[in-house]
Amino acid sequence: MLTAMTDAGPDSKPWHSDGVHFRCKGPECGDCCSGKKGSGYVWVSETEMRAIATQLGLEICQFTTKYVRQVGNRYSLIEKSNQDCIFYIKDKGCGVYDARPTQCRTYPFWPEVVRTPESWALEALQCPGIDKEEPRVPGEEVAKQLVIDAKRFSMHRE
Ligand code: SF4
Ligand code: SF4
Repeated sequence: MLTAMTDAGPDSKPWHSDGVHFRCKGPECGDCCSGKKGSGYVWVSETEMRAIATQLGLEICQFTTKYVRQVGNRYSLIEKSNQDCIFYIKDKGCGVYDARPTQCRTYPFWPEVVRTPESWALEALQCPGIDKEEPRVPGEEVAKQLVIDAKRFSMHRE
């Protein structure tokens, strides 16, 4: 994953400053949680792991043993055998919604996704909520989500 950046110069606005079209299709989609588009990582910080463990009524060591894998010096939620996120419930969505990790909250406003119009259009192949003449998310909200997402990277680097 990348830190927040755009292709705009120092004095120009990012391409998404006037907003982008996006509206999540909700649990009936779930493509970003299921294995439909392939395997992936759901990165979790220690704080996020503790939050999910608390929601599930587990001690942190019970939670990590059952639901977390180490990838290099980072941690990800595990997947089911069909590559769904371990907490994804078909047609219902996230089984730990209130404690879901930051990357799940900020998607699709990740730096690598909103970096250019082309990267945004490419992500539309993965997410049916992108660029379908759906309501426009204001540029200020996109910027806010990028800031939240950037903090995720610093959390993982602690
Ligand atoms: S893939 Fe996009 S539309 Fe589907 S659940 Fe995820 S964010 Fe929503
Ligand atoms: S934790 Fe929840 S929101 Fe995040 S990928 Fe898994 S099921 Fe989806």
